[in-house]
Amino acid sequence: MSERSTAGALLEALRHRCAGVALLTAADEVAPYLVDHRRLYHGQALAVALPDSTAQLSVLMAACYALDIAMVPQGGNTSYCGGATPDASGRQLVIGLARMNRVRSIDPANFSITVEAGCLLANVQRAAAEADCYFPLELGSAGSCQIGGNLSTNAGGLNVLRFGMTRALALGIEAVLPDGRVLQRLRGLRKDNTGYDLKSLLIGAEGTLGIITAATLKLWPRLRSSATAFVAVRDVAAAIALLGRLRAAAGERLNSFELLPRAAIELACRHIPDTRAPLGTESAWCVLCELASFVDEPLDELLQGALLQASEASLIQDAVLASNESQRRVFWNLREAIPEAQRRAGPGVKHDISVPVSALPAFVAEASAWVQAHVPEGTLVAYGHAGDGNLHFNINWLGPIAPAAIASQEPLIRRAIHDLVAAHGGSISAEHGIGQLKVTELQHYSSPVELDAMRAIKRALDPKGLMNPGKLLAR
Ligand SMILES: Cc1cc2nc3c(=O)[nH]c(=O)nc-3n(C[C@H](O)[C@H](O)[C@H](O)COP(=O)(O)OP(=O)(O)OC[C@H]3O[C@@H](n4cnc5c(N)ncnc54)[C@H](O)[C@@H]3O)c2cc1C
Repeated sequence: MSERSTAGALLEALRHRCAGVALLTAADEVAPYLVDHRRLYHGQALAVALPDSTAQLSVLMAACYALDIAMVPQGGNTSYCGGATPDASGRQLVIGLARMNRVRSIDPANFSITVEAGCLLANVQRAAAEADCYFPLELGSAGSCQIGGNLSTNAGGLNVLRFGMTRALALGIEAVLPDGRVLQRLRGLRKDNTGYDLKSLLIGAEGTLGIITAATLKLWPRLRSSATAFVAVRDVAAAIALLGRLRAAAGERLNSFELLPRAAIELACRHIPDTRAPLGTESAWCVLCELASFVDEPLDELLQGALLQASEASLIQDAVLASNESQRRVFWNLREAIPEAQRRAGPGVKHDISVPVSALPAFVAEASAWVQAHVPEGTLVAYGHAGDGNLHFNINWLGPIAPAAIASQEPLIRRAIHDLVAAHGGSISAEHGIGQLKVTELQHYSSPVELDAMRAIKRALDPKGLMNPGKLLAR
């Protein structure tokens, strides 16, 4: 039998076993599911299935399991490591969660909300706000990414400093295992010591152990006051010293602490309309920081006082506080414009790394020196969630360069930067996951014991290796 007729027969068998599930096969309908957000990976698929309930997904996955069809879950398709893109075989089934997008319930007294995996992050935030509550996960992709994707990548974002990564925001999950069985752990409990934490295992698994269908998430009271500042600092060491002072002065009110180099600010202002720099200084680094509180309190005064003291200690060169919401938006728009500005500016190599916060100054100094010496034609744009020790340590080529020239340098650059990360006790993937992009890097930097344990978990839950093959762990 030819490859084509085998695929046709598989599809027929699938249709037969799950008649109610929408299956897209027309080339123009399937096309958007075959390429990742950064357009680094292009695949083919048997079809795209769009189940609309956990029951439908369970039937679909049981059928795939029986027919040995590999499954590739896809949420909003905004992730950076190619985890949601099928391979080139045309034999994998993409399973989109977009139709499973209901808010199932909200329990303000328990400060929890139960939502389906396909809910857009922005819609979860909105549903929380309508109940006078706050859901703190905040990413630039909130309007397109889904909560199931956020859980599966254990997304970080702008408020990790205070509220933790997505895993820390989940109380319970519901998931379908590769053979179609439903794992029901939708508990709104803050205390639950009943054996292995299966919820945490599925979170951050990037669709390699099963498909998350719903989650019960923590809420907080609505934020009632905030203060935001844009601050120029001399160097990364001064930024980290400022972070320490702000934590001491504001305690847990410090929501965000983002580091922006001048190169990133210039790129954003050049490439993204209506973006402007809040400070006129020529300083090499800036910090965007925000305090927030669940009660009405004068946070502007608190932030101003802390910045004044930092200035007296010569830690900061200049600062401006947002005087209203529209000025605050100007600050954040600049920060959020950076990834798109980098994309428009030209090709690049990206690293999503973390090191202990205390090691950031030394890491940045050493890694910048390496880039200057070995990639003189590249512009370093290292920005991000410095309060969490996380930087997007990216190199952009602003002049003309052939893609093949970058591709030939990329492995060397990646290994050199990741070696420095490892030397500082850091991680090669702070918040974007492994996907296809970093499978080799994960293997290189994990110990044999770690890899054995991960493979054992994979085998136990997915014995046929049908869940998102080739992602996270090598086949
Ligand atoms: C402008 C912009 C800003 C961003 N900012 C941040 C940031 O600050 N921090 C950050 O961490 N990320 C950020 N991201 C990356 C991205 O938005 C996150 O990784 C997000 O969590 C991905 O969600 P998604 O729904 O798009 O998932 P997808 O890209 O569709 O999938 C991601 C992975 O999860 C799997 N998956 C998806 N849904 C499910 C499910 N229901 N069950 C099981 N597996 C599933 C997929 O197979 C894939 O492996 C940003 C992206 C953009 C474009």
